[in-house]
Amino acid sequence: MKCTICKSKGMDNKAIIDLPAHNIRLCKEHYIEWFERRVERTIKEFRMFTKRDRILVAVSGGKDSLGLWYALNKLGYDADGLHIDLGIYDYSEKSRKITEDFAQKIGRRLYIIDLKREMGGIPEIKEKIKNKPACSICGTIKRYYMNKVAREEGYNVLATGHNLDDESAVLLNNILNWHLEYLGRQYPVLEEEEGFAKKVKPYFRISEKESAIYTFLNGIKYIEEECPLSIGANSLKYKEILGNIEEKFPGTKLRFLNGYMEKIHPLFEKREEKEVKSMGRCKICGEPSSLDICAVCNIKLKMGKGGDYSPPQILIFSQKRYPYRKP
Ligand SMILES: [Zn+2]
Ligand SMILES: [Zn+2]
Repeated sequence: MKCTICKSKGMDNKAIIDLPAHNIRLCKEHYIEWFERRVERTIKEFRMFTKRDRILVAVSGGKDSLGLWYALNKLGYDADGLHIDLGIYDYSEKSRKITEDFAQKIGRRLYIIDLKREMGGIPEIKEKIKNKPACSICGTIKRYYMNKVAREEGYNVLATGHNLDDESAVLLNNILNWHLEYLGRQYPVLEEEEGFAKKVKPYFRISEKESAIYTFLNGIKYIEEECPLSIGANSLKYKEILGNIEEKFPGTKLRFLNGYMEKIHPLFEKREEKEVKSMGRCKICGEPSSLDICAVCNIKLKMGKGGDYSPPQILIFSQKRYPYRKP
């Protein structure tokens, strides 16, 4: 099995990866090149950001977010990291350590929010709030701090490592259940709104496998296990179902998601324009909220953290020292 690109240049390097969804086989060097070109093309095609923007990447310590953070800096973008330590047993401890080590390695600034310090870890919160799945509580909290840190530290774009597998599983779930309101917001770019930073997903056309290979080939250590609280979550089941279809029909996930973005999503945009309404503010913390007290302040109250607002403690782990350099 020869590398498709090497072959076209008259060389005969062996391919280490076969990508049936794209009908190519690549050697290590050409895989990295191909991957980064795809990420950059997505960023440009969707006008996610330019080299003048300040980007904050939400970094969990997994393959997607670490790989994305690395790729953005390598491509010449100005990207720092934000890690939210969710306080989920040794899973969070490991994730934080990996993220901190990596920040030091690439010499970029890393902000840390320690949830235990703010209100309690996700397992304790889940104890108090029984009617909501842990993943949904966790998602709400992450979005809150991502917005807050981005705004307070002067970043105008928030990037997350959501990949093709994540996005197509969410899409399948939303379609099977006809969650129209979520469908309307499922797009790789959400423009800045009052109180919310612009949100982008540069990896939305990159599969989980492709992302893992990229991170691995670059020698980046990442946490491989799934969050212990997500085991049994529906999102994982949808991923598995799509994985089975993909195996029989390579390229399905990409066609499914691309088709939605191109053909269906524009219909929602027209609908949304009519529904723009300005959002209120949380009475306690002042963040945008459709209720008097925002979801996160509500959780804090339930955790016995009083109604008086104390701003989050944003820890800065490493200072920016130099832009990306080839190691
Ligand atoms: Zn090659
Ligand atoms: Zn609030």
